[in-house]
Amino acid sequence: MEWITAKSLLIKNKHADWFGHDYTMNVYRGCHHGCIYCDSRSSCYGIDHFDIVRGKENSQELLRRELASKRSKGVIGMGSMSDPYNHDEEEHQLTRKALQLIQHYRFGVSIATKSALVTRDIDILSDIQLQAPVNVSLSITTVDDELSRRIEQRVSVSSTRFRALQELSAAGIFTGVLLMPILPFITDQISNVRRIVSLAADAGAKYVYPSFGMTLRENQREHYFRWLDKLYPGLKEQYIRTYGTRYGCMSTRRRQLERAFQEECEQQGILYRMPDIIASYKKDMEPEQLKLF
Ligand code: SF4
Repeated sequence: MEWITAKSLLIKNKHADWFGHDYTMNVYRGCHHGCIYCDSRSSCYGIDHFDIVRGKENSQELLRRELASKRSKGVIGMGSMSDPYNHDEEEHQLTRKALQLIQHYRFGVSIATKSALVTRDIDILSDIQLQAPVNVSLSITTVDDELSRRIEQRVSVSSTRFRALQELSAAGIFTGVLLMPILPFITDQISNVRRIVSLAADAGAKYVYPSFGMTLRENQREHYFRWLDKLYPGLKEQYIRTYGTRYGCMSTRRRQLERAFQEECEQQGILYRMPDIIASYKKDMEPEQLKLF
């Protein structure tokens, strides 16, 4: 891992429509989990050498200062541009230290990750949840461990992520699954989508939030296509025939997938609409706590 010095950490969001995040924060830049489809490596984000993780050496000092200066509390989203539980987090604990500050200053937190390492921080997440909203999303794209090893090469396989969900949920943490992206012609089977929802329900997840396709932007596309050539010869050509240079590539089975997904969620009693998810994880707080928050 390399170290960089950040100028600021918390970004105020104009709208809190993505999981109710009032702020966004990344204590790392780049990610080495190796998901072949990763959107964060797109040129538009300007992260050079994306696979090299860079820790923000002054993240604690910055976060302490920024949290202390905020007049209103809010939920801080982590994991939008890099996974906060990359392998270097085991040693350097920038995410854990950030959570301790979030707890100290009585903010809420909402984390997206693919790593089971998040369960290490159940103690702090439970403490935060006593005074502010907490949500943990595990991103899961396939129920097939072999396939997840191929397309998400250096992170916990899907079954380990389901176990992490179970552990978080058993500890009383509000959790769910980010079912995204769905890779056209690779993971867009109805059986895959239905199984993810039912395994999520078995693990105690409160929601599954989907996207029935993927993005393909500059740099992300070239990277993904190189991997398709290696793993699925001929598939790149099928993508080009189907999508051209389009940015949003929805599965050609989108409608059927949506129908099956909603039906499965209704059967399993799982939330899947964003406003319901936000209302649900924020409502778990007592009215008195909410007022303070
Ligand atoms: S874990 Fe997330 S940020 Fe990291 S490579 Fe995978 S999709 Fe990209």
